[in-house]
Amino acid sequence: MFDSAKRTVVVVGAQWGDEGKGKLVDVLAERADWVVRYQGGANAGHTVQIGDVSFVLHQIPSGILHRGVRCAIGNGVVLDPETLFTEVDELVRDGVDVEGRLYVSDRAHLVLPYHKLVDKESSANKEIGTTGRGIGPAYEDKVGRRGVRVLDLRHPSRLRALVERAAEHADAQLARFGSARRVDVGLVMDALERVGPRLLAIAEDVGLSIHRARVSGAAILLEGAQGSLLDVDHGTYPFVTSSNTTSGGAAIGAGVAPTTIDAVLGVVKAYTTRVGAGPLPTELDEALGERIRRLGNEFGATTGRPRRCGWFDAVVVRYAVRINGLSGLAVTKLDVLDTLDRVAICTGYEVDGDTLADFPGDLEALERASPRYEWLDGWRESTAEARRLEDLPPRARAYLDRIEALVGAPIEFVSVGTRRDQIIGLDVAV
Ligand code: GDP
Repeated sequence: MFDSAKRTVVVVGAQWGDEGKGKLVDVLAERADWVVRYQGGANAGHTVQIGDVSFVLHQIPSGILHRGVRCAIGNGVVLDPETLFTEVDELVRDGVDVEGRLYVSDRAHLVLPYHKLVDKESSANKEIGTTGRGIGPAYEDKVGRRGVRVLDLRHPSRLRALVERAAEHADAQLARFGSARRVDVGLVMDALERVGPRLLAIAEDVGLSIHRARVSGAAILLEGAQGSLLDVDHGTYPFVTSSNTTSGGAAIGAGVAPTTIDAVLGVVKAYTTRVGAGPLPTELDEALGERIRRLGNEFGATTGRPRRCGWFDAVVVRYAVRINGLSGLAVTKLDVLDTLDRVAICTGYEVDGDTLADFPGDLEALERASPRYEWLDGWRESTAEARRLEDLPPRARAYLDRIEALVGAPIEFVSVGTRRDQIIGLDVAV
């Protein structure tokens, strides 16, 4: 990663999120000059373990944990200013020097209190299983041309007019939901007045800064949140997030040209998980699902919600390879499967008597899909100490080889534990 031919690299989740991108981005960020988040909001939750301290970052790229790495929040992110500064203050309290290393795009849209209110009061959003952090409503305002952007904070009178217009729309929505709650514009303005100076101090044209950095030879990591199957266009619509999580979204959301991207790394778990509602074709039965959930600690970093667990789905990852143009894969959590007698890989779906090798766009077809499995022997020994592919048990290697062949992308990294040094493919200091 980051050799002379690969200077701008995108890292995306290639399943339904929570693939362990946090750890991957963390170890790659050490080698980068810039790390940029390009979409999503404070609903992402990366957990990064450094020594004995565990950091959960919602909006700030985990690159912030490495001295000298510059971090930016791109225009494609919807930014929650309150939680941004809570996060900054926590980092500073834990001894991380943030000063002069964190930037936000002046074009990023803000998540304001009324977005959270609308999110919480909407029963439709409850059905989709949103996190109630106002991300969806903020993206709706963005596309509906009612959004408030960071740069609007530079113009107080324009800002008030924009907030009033958006609040009017939010009030109408609340009334339609049968909610008695209404937006208090005064409170919103007070909150913006409080955070405004701090936010404007780090606001700039992030796309331009990255362009300049790239021209001067910098290594740039564009970091996605959530996973490819949650992409608003390519995911399991409507059980998706509100943004483009895939690599195309990286160009848009960081403000760089698609032709500047040199490589796209897809992060996948050695099995599959998803949070909330929506189809999961390879979902395990209760007993085995619970066992993997406990072994893999599959509970949401942001919400604590238990994740649904399934076998590795090669149909899903093959699809992710195609739509992201993945140049390589990082397989995480291989160690979680260490104690199983046998493991399965889904190679295709049977739908109404037909075999589907490609991921369908129609959710109803997916719901009726029964997975076709290929079974492999489990390796039943610990992989946690492996640092080279040769250190892995032959059956674990056979499992990875089969995944590589089925999805059509080379495996570049394998993660075998929560610690930074538990990785194959990179020399990482503990
Ligand atoms: P992200 O949003 O994609 O970064 O995923 P999360 O941070 O929600 O989930 C990743 C979780 O898995 C964190 O608790 C990590 O410490 C943990 N993790 C990452 N890689 C590995 C691994 O290889 N093995 C194990 N056992 N845990 C891992």
